[in-house]
Formats: sequence, structure tokens, C-alpha cells
Amino acid sequence: MTEQKPGDNPFGGLAIDFGGDGGNASVATSPIRAPQGPTDQAADGTATESNLIIVGSGPAGLTAAIYAARANLEPIVLAGSTPGGQLMLTSDVENYPGFPEGIQGPELMNQMRDQAIRFGARMIDVDIDRVDLGERPFRLWARGVEYKAESVIVATGASALWLGLDSETRLRGRGVSACATCDGFFFRDREIAVVGGGDTAFEEATYLTRFASKVHMLHRRDSFRASKIMVDRARAHPKIDIHTNVTVDEVVGDAKVEGLKLRDTQTGALTDMPIEGLFIAIGYRPNTEAFRDWLEVGEGGYLVVHDETNSKIDGVFIAGDVHDHRYRQAVTAAADGCKAAIDAERWLESQGIAEAATSTAW
Ligand code: NAP
Repeated sequence: MTEQKPGDNPFGGLAIDFGGDGGNASVATSPIRAPQGPTDQAADGTATESNLIIVGSGPAGLTAAIYAARANLEPIVLAGSTPGGQLMLTSDVENYPGFPEGIQGPELMNQMRDQAIRFGARMIDVDIDRVDLGERPFRLWARGVEYKAESVIVATGASALWLGLDSETRLRGRGVSACATCDGFFFRDREIAVVGGGDTAFEEATYLTRFASKVHMLHRRDSFRASKIMVDRARAHPKIDIHTNVTVDEVVGDAKVEGLKLRDTQTGALTDMPIEGLFIAIGYRPNTEAFRDWLEVGEGGYLVVHDETNSKIDGVFIAGDVHDHRYRQAVTAAADGCKAAIDAERWLESQGIAEAATSTAW
């Protein structure tokens, strides 16, 4: 088994094509492929125990890894079988500070990962199956291997929900997106559609009016989960048209989105809607499967934090989108990862397990 070194591309052979959109929606594309030959140091009997295990390798997990590694905690990162988180599905990231020309999502994650490895974080590209947080050391299992840690940071993120159409998957990153903040900019003066009837859909539709010439909201029922004020605001907006009792049957287009085939849920009638961008805003699913039985789960299935990054179990910390349904930005997740690492470090010191190395004025 190979140990991951800085500069090795963990996303080697990444199946992402940033072209083919004629300069329109230069957004990303197809789901990533799993790295070739996952790093699994556990197979040779090493790196299964640490003072700190971080689960997840999006901006929260990797920032936690950078901080913890620099604090000499030699964290193990159980990075997932498709590491990198949601930014692996985005191309141009233009709002992450420090990159005035923007940076590709996968490249940003690659650099964060290199940075963590450079300071001694140990990356293992496996999905965890289950955990036992009942006593310390905490135990986590992945691919039949048991990992043990005195503290854990849960940074497993959230996944956007999709409609599940083949045409939607094929055109993802070629006009189909689940992130208005990430990709709205690419639809300046274009006609687009947003699917969903919750707060996310209304928020995204309103945001997208800054760029698009027209935003069609498509909802499968005639009443909305979204708050009344958001619905009223959208109804009054000259750029938003709300279509109810309608579902998307097919996203039409070859290299990029050219339109939709819509179905009237009451009559079954099919109509064509020519648009150039489709935003899916039907909710997110926080990735909590392995932790649900141990940690508090709140509204929408998100984990609950107390006092910034603490869970209800001493020594278990939570960072990023797995608890944050409000901001969901790479930079806020990264900040959360930093906080969780500092909190873990302080906690390990308070238990006499490790000496805190990060100096913070608090
Ligand atoms: P949500 O409230 O669960 O709404 C999801 C919407 O997508 C629903 O209208 C649902 O339709 C529709 N939908 C689900 N699956 C679909 C499918 N397969 N095809 C077509 N439509 C589908 O999710 P959300 O809007 O992401 O909100 C999640 C939580 O975050 C909520 O508590 C919300 O209040 C909160 N939030 C708050 C704000 C804010 O306050 N600024 C912003 C965003 C989110 P049905 O209604 O027919 O089920």
C-alpha cells in the first residue's frame, strides 16, 4: 500500500472535463472517480491509532488536518473513497480568498490535501462503516480495519440531492448545478430554471436573478415548504416566474443544457421549456449515517453542535456542512475545521494526552 506524499495526485485520473460548454457554463461536470489504488496504510499494520482521527476530507476535514498536523498530533484522516467533498464537483471557485483568478475545485482540494500531508497528516482513502463512541479510545471501522483514537472530528459534509434523471447526471457541470452561489455567475443574461419549493429553492432563485435574465421556478406541487415571505418576494420579482404542479422529465441538450421537457403533474401533458441552466435545489442530505446512533441529530438530519464545535460526547468534535445548513461555503467549512482542530488539541491537553502547540489568545 502506498503512503500519500505531498505532490501525489490523490485524484489522479479524475474524470472531470471542464470543456465542451462553448464558454457558457464553465462549471464542472461529472462525478469524480475514486482515486487509483486508495491509500490504505492500515493494511501494513500501521497508522490505525492516533490521538486524533478526522473523518472527511472536504475543506473542514482538511483544514482540521492541517491545524492538527502542525500541532504535532499526527492525525489520521479517514478521507472517504472519493475524497475532497463537494468541491470535487465544482470547477471554477471564485469566492475562496487568496485566488484572485479563481481556482478549480479539485485543484483547491488537492492543494489542501498536500498541505495537510506536508505537516504529517496521514490520509487513508476509505469510507467508514460504523463507529463506537461509547468509551475511549473511540473506535471506527472501515473496510474491516479497526481504527482507534482519543478524539474524533466529524467532518463528513453533506451531499446535494438530485432528481435522479440520466440526462441530469450527463449534463451536470454543463449547465446543471446544485449550487447557485458557486455557479450563478456563469449564467449572466441567460434564461434558467430552479427546481424545488423549499427555502433553498427560493433563496437560490432570488440570488440567481442577479445574473439571469429570467428564472423559472419549477415545483411539483401547488403549495410550498418555503417561508411565506420568501414566496411572496419571489412572486413579486419581475425576473421570477413560478410554475407549479410540474416536474422535469428530461434535461435536453448534447454538450450543454438547451432546455427541459416538463410534465404537468395533473394532466400528464408534456411541454418544452428552452433554458440554458438548471439549478436543482431540492435539499441536502448531511452525511451522518455512521454517527446517527451516537450524536445528536437535529432539524433536517444535521448534527447538533454546542459551543462552536463540541458534540454531546467529550472528545468528539463536529465541523463543516454536516452540521451547518446555513452557510455551506468552502470558506466557512474550512474555518470550522480550524476551530475543531484547536478545540480537539485543547481537549487532548486538558486530558493530559497531548501538549497543546497552537497558541491562541483566548
Ligand atoms: P426542503 O425544505 O426539504 O424542500 C425541498 C423541496 O424540494 C420541497 O419543495 C420538495 O417538494 C422538493 N423536492 C424534493 N425532492 C424532489 C424531487 N425528487 N423532485 C422535485 N422536487 C423535489 O429543503 P430545503 O429547501 O433545502 O430546506 C432545508 C431546510 O433548510 C429547511 O428547514 C429550510 O427552512 C432551511 N433553509 C432555510 C433558509 C433560510 O431561512 N434562509 C435557506 C435555505 C434552507 P415537496 O414540497 O413536494 O416535498
